[in-house]
Amino acid sequence: MENRLKYGFAFKKKYGQNFLSDKNLLSAIVRDAGVERGTNVLEIGTGAGDLTRALCERAKFVLSYEIDKTLKPIIEESLSSYRNVEVVFQDFSKEDLKEIEKKLGKYRVVANLPYYLTTPLLMRFVEESESCEGLCVMVQEEVAERMCAKSGTPEYGALTSAIARRGEAKIVRKVPRELFFPQPQVDSAVVTVDFSGGFEVKSPACFRAAVRCAFQNRRKTLENNLMGSFSLTREQAKELLRLAEIPEGVRGEVLTPQEIGKLSDLIFIRNLP
Ligand code: SAM
Repeated sequence: MENRLKYGFAFKKKYGQNFLSDKNLLSAIVRDAGVERGTNVLEIGTGAGDLTRALCERAKFVLSYEIDKTLKPIIEESLSSYRNVEVVFQDFSKEDLKEIEKKLGKYRVVANLPYYLTTPLLMRFVEESESCEGLCVMVQEEVAERMCAKSGTPEYGALTSAIARRGEAKIVRKVPRELFFPQPQVDSAVVTVDFSGGFEVKSPACFRAAVRCAFQNRRKTLENNLMGSFSLTREQAKELLRLAEIPEGVRGEVLTPQEIGKLSDLIFIRNLP
């Protein structure tokens, strides 16, 4: 990161630029991610390239996205001795994930995520990715807790359930704010999700709709939310709950991700709107 001074780089808060440079921490993240000689890695947010370099040391290939083109000279210098890396200077949220997956085949996401984009990015990988084998991401501690929450707790929500369908989220490392530059206002944590865990559903699209329904209006009962989300009569909603063996009168937030999966399979089989 030292070369940022040489190129007169100014940090941009709007892009969530809180960089890491502690070599021990960077190596630990690469180990946490399970990156091996044959692993292809997708990184979102190259920054000054310090995590990218640590990844290049272990991975087969690293594809890294960076939105801020003013980082280009710093990144070029930082990664000049590696041949197994490609940096794309684009907004990752505008990229076509299917095209990226065609290029990478099987891959792992390893990233110190920009905080303003964390939830939509995570949702995108758990909902849309097909050849992703897992995630190892640095996120704010509060997001880490939401990723790993148990049903019925205040942290539990759509993000938790969507992730649980793909695998178990684990906080593997807490990272104090002092290790970032510039220093953020909160601490962070590294969370891994291995996509070989998780559970099957008949239709991922229907599961997405059921997750949205379960957490849509937390003050309403699941029965009422089902009626609203799927245009059901009260009798149809009650019948669904009976078939899914979910007691009447519960709120969506107490359902486990597996129960939401069961409900979504029933909605799918019965071809409800
Ligand atoms: N990987 C570096 C590190 O660990 O030091 C930088 C991490 S920093 C938390 C997040 C990086 O993501 C920043 O460099 C920021 O410019 C970049 N970024 C923010 N939004 C982005 C987007 N939509 N697409 C690609 N990169 C983005």
